[in-house]
Amino acid sequence: MGKVLGIIGGGQLGMMLAEAAKTMPEITKVIVLDPTPDCPASQKGAEQIVADFKDRSAIITLAGKSDVITYEIESGDSDVLGSVMDKTDVNPSPETLRIIQDKLLQKQFLRDNGLPVSDFVGISGYDDLKAGLDSFGYPALLKARRDAYDGRGNYKIDSESFAQKAFEFFSGKNLMLEKFVPFKMEVSVISARNISGKIKSFPLVENIHENNILRQTIAPARVSKDVSLKAAQIANDTMSVLKGSGVFGIEMFVTNNDDILINEIAPRVHNSGHHTLQSSKTSQFEQHLRAILGLNLGDTTLLHNTIMYNILGPGDFQGEYDEPEISGDNVHLKMYGKKISKPSRKLGHFNLVGRNGQGIDELLEILDVLKSDSAVRPRV
Ligand code: AMP
Repeated sequence: MGKVLGIIGGGQLGMMLAEAAKTMPEITKVIVLDPTPDCPASQKGAEQIVADFKDRSAIITLAGKSDVITYEIESGDSDVLGSVMDKTDVNPSPETLRIIQDKLLQKQFLRDNGLPVSDFVGISGYDDLKAGLDSFGYPALLKARRDAYDGRGNYKIDSESFAQKAFEFFSGKNLMLEKFVPFKMEVSVISARNISGKIKSFPLVENIHENNILRQTIAPARVSKDVSLKAAQIANDTMSVLKGSGVFGIEMFVTNNDDILINEIAPRVHNSGHHTLQSSKTSQFEQHLRAILGLNLGDTTLLHNTIMYNILGPGDFQGEYDEPEISGDNVHLKMYGKKISKPSRKLGHFNLVGRNGQGIDELLEILDVLKSDSAVRPRV
């Protein structure tokens, strides 16, 4: 008998999980909980409960209908998810979610387990901030501890004169201060741990951000063998201490000395793993489902050099838009079915796949042309 899969969140990640689920006989139905009617996952055949991600009774309803619950966002209510574990399996575990969704608890957890992170300190008042800045120097990053992603909860403090402004910017929020890492590259590892504790990772990829939002992922990362081995080891060590099963996105910095520091962990499939849809034998979405269903993990070998490029809403426009039309044997466009474009909103992505043996430099040249063709234009 196949299982019913419940997903907290029905955005693009839920959509691609639902698409992967369709190819797996182990799953008969997908139900997503998402506040936006006709969310991306429901457009791909998932049943939808329209409710806020933290709506207690909606989560209980979802649990009553599902054999296993997972999430595509980290802002679910870990207490409520913990309380439905007698009704259904929840993976990754609500305890892991609770730690990860608070950036300070997450960093403390990593440091306590001997994993490399930048210096940081919890901030309870302005005096703590002053003391932290005196200790770390400038620049430093003031971060909201919760519900902050795509850099939206970060404030870079370049000098003492910005300290007060930064503190007031986050008025009423729980905060932490982090020492700035002068990195030469941002990288990530998509790693999976299945119910029996087996761990498997995809190769290290390189991430290029624009205005704190991921724009481009290059697979594999252009780093030395030493660096990629070190990153793989850190990812493996991280996965060994996290409880529960599923796919995790482990974001890291490579410093000028080729040291690696973990920036943050996502307890879910991750934007920097979208390349696996075409570059690898197993996609990160199938891998996540395999992990939480107790199946063997799939092959994570990178078959082709690949670049993933995010299609973002243009900065000066909000409203309906025409989808870009780009095609080609080695270009795989996936739009997410979002009706309205907003500045920097993730509307889709494409993978440019080096199936004919192209190197990264060659793919980057092709990408230069595709970038403008993939721009979203307002509907007239
Ligand atoms: P976050 O949402 O905390 O992952 O941060 C978003 C982006 O801010 C990261 O991808 C980095 O580019 C940058 N960032 C975050 N923390 C640091 C840090 N300690 N030092 C330098 N850059 C950072």
